[in-house]
Amino acid sequence: MKIFVVNCGSSSIKYQLINMEDESVIAKGLVERIGIDGSVLTHTPAGKDKVRMESEIPDHVDGIKKVLAALVDPNHGVIKSMDEIDAVGHRVVHGGEVFSESVLVTEENLKQIEALSDMAPLHQPPNVAGIRACQKLMPNTPQVAVFDTAFHQTMPPVAFMYGVKYEEYKKYGIRKYGFHGTSHRYVAACAAELLGKKPEDTKIITCHLGNGSSITAVDGGKSVDTSMGFTPLDGVLMGTRCGSIDPAIVPILMQKKGLDNAGMDKYMNKECGVLGISGISSDFRDLEDAANKGDEKAQLALDMFCYQVKRYIGAYAAAMGGVDAIVFTAGVGENDIGTRAKVCKGLEFLGVELDAERNNVRGKVTEISKADSKVKVFLIPTNEELVIARDTNRLCGK
Ligand code: ADP
Repeated sequence: MKIFVVNCGSSSIKYQLINMEDESVIAKGLVERIGIDGSVLTHTPAGKDKVRMESEIPDHVDGIKKVLAALVDPNHGVIKSMDEIDAVGHRVVHGGEVFSESVLVTEENLKQIEALSDMAPLHQPPNVAGIRACQKLMPNTPQVAVFDTAFHQTMPPVAFMYGVKYEEYKKYGIRKYGFHGTSHRYVAACAAELLGKKPEDTKIITCHLGNGSSITAVDGGKSVDTSMGFTPLDGVLMGTRCGSIDPAIVPILMQKKGLDNAGMDKYMNKECGVLGISGISSDFRDLEDAANKGDEKAQLALDMFCYQVKRYIGAYAAAMGGVDAIVFTAGVGENDIGTRAKVCKGLEFLGVELDAERNNVRGKVTEISKADSKVKVFLIPTNEELVIARDTNRLCGK
């Protein structure tokens, strides 16, 4: 069983071909600059060098076509024919309240997925375009949609409702949906295993800290609260997103800066966060370099980030009435030793004892708390593609 995992962005396609027998990656790659000058496909067969192919790629159908051609290419390909691809798993950003788990794509549910585009206007249309492109090019191959929001559909109303009028929830679906669900689900399940417990018997706080960051309370294997909201802008400040702010700031800044809706949206999503505070970079490596050289704003940005993550951990321990484990994952969570240390510092009152030596690690599954720490702290690299492939495998009934 070979599964093609596809993640379509507005001008990009990330993909992996996974062999489900041993869950190994046979090939992976990235199409960039779809529909703009300088389109390029970078294809990496497992264990071999990257191949870079520049050509015009006007749309997602053409992008997928070129990826499939790369997969069967006599030189750098990894399969003899497209028939070897048994199923395709697609990352879809928004499942709204309709999808609480992954689904085999049908014409009917694809229309429902498309109808959710209002909720994620930048992400949902390319996700749908990717599904349609694969359907066109592989009409007999089953397609599965795996949603970023689905894992969080178990949140209770007290957690997902905002204090706006109830009728806005009913009319416009204004509520918290949460994102990064595939990642939170994966690392929470790994953490339960590391604890040697059934997921039902665990309380876990998962910190997905990357360019976008979210923290989730996973009680009994189910998401009961998460820091991202109606959109991925909510929660902690991120690389370039402002995170939660007093909502009254929005109209005031629009007026003072003369911004329209789109301008304000761009400002909050692209110009704020640790980039906006430091004025240097959205990348934590750059901020650490600058802070080490004495840059106070870079230090402030890093400190704010750690403080806000810590605050969510405290809030979620309270929400669940306890916590057995805290998990760090994604680019910052897996690699940034200093951030993990700073987030955990001061949480000793909860029973969190980080081990400085064990924490001196990057990118591999590790228990980074002291042996006698009441609350375990784990570094668990996320693997959203593998979850998509597993769901696809399961739903295709093979
Ligand atoms: P995305 O949300 O785009 O998927 P990732 O999870 O890949 O992002 O995280 C990317 C971020 O991880 C980078 O912007 C950078 O800040 C951070 N990062 C990667 N490697 C390191 C490192 N060695 N030390 C600190 N931060 C790192």
